[in-house]
Amino acid sequence: MIKENYSKILENVKNACIRSGRSPEEVTLIAVSKTKPVPMLEEAYSAGARDFGENKVQEIRDKFPVLPDDIKWHMIGHLQTNKVKYIVDKVCLIHSVDSYHLAEEISRQAEKKGVNADILIEVNMAEEESKFGLYKDEVTDLVREVAKLPHINIKGLMTIAPYVTNPEDNRKYFRAIRDLSIDIAKENIDNVSMSVLSMGMTGDYEVAIEEGATFVRVGTGIFGERNYTV
Ligand SMILES: *Cc1c(COP(=O)(O)O)cnc(C)c1O
Repeated sequence: MIKENYSKILENVKNACIRSGRSPEEVTLIAVSKTKPVPMLEEAYSAGARDFGENKVQEIRDKFPVLPDDIKWHMIGHLQTNKVKYIVDKVCLIHSVDSYHLAEEISRQAEKKGVNADILIEVNMAEEESKFGLYKDEVTDLVREVAKLPHINIKGLMTIAPYVTNPEDNRKYFRAIRDLSIDIAKENIDNVSMSVLSMGMTGDYEVAIEEGATFVRVGTGIFGERNYTV
């Protein structure tokens, strides 16, 4: 089933690209495997998935050593400063940076491990109280400060849109974060690229692609519902 789901979503991703005049190479599907056991990730891997998203440090630490080396791990969940050291050299991109304090620790730990960390700034576009991320008015100032840190590269922005039944309801947020990223790019801040937009999940990834997503993060659509009680 995972194989069929993965292929179907990849197909939808391609079609959304074509529909919106984009090249399918511009968009990467991240298989969000949080809470799912290793055999399910192996199944997605054999279907062709190479980018996996996790939201817990411990799960990355558990899965990383037992899965193939050519997997790119994405940290998409809220990251506590004291856990940065466990993953900074394991993940290809941290999507969820929302404070200078966290960015500082990422830079410090990256230096210790002899790497440069690629990060995204998480933006709470709908200003939902239950969500992490900066409000849009705060983003440019944080980008300027974080850009000065030595072992960090800012690659773009990430958002988690509200849970909606009609994906069209999120189009305005996707469009607004895209506009924000264009505005920031125009500032030509040293060491800052705005080439990445991580947005869109199972319910709304096609709309997100139409509005410029370069990473879509799909969990349920590939692996099925998550069961948090086991
Ligand atoms: C869980 C999660 C997803 C995937 O959500 P689905 O609705 O299952 O596709 C995407 N992004 C983040 C940050 C998540 O935590």
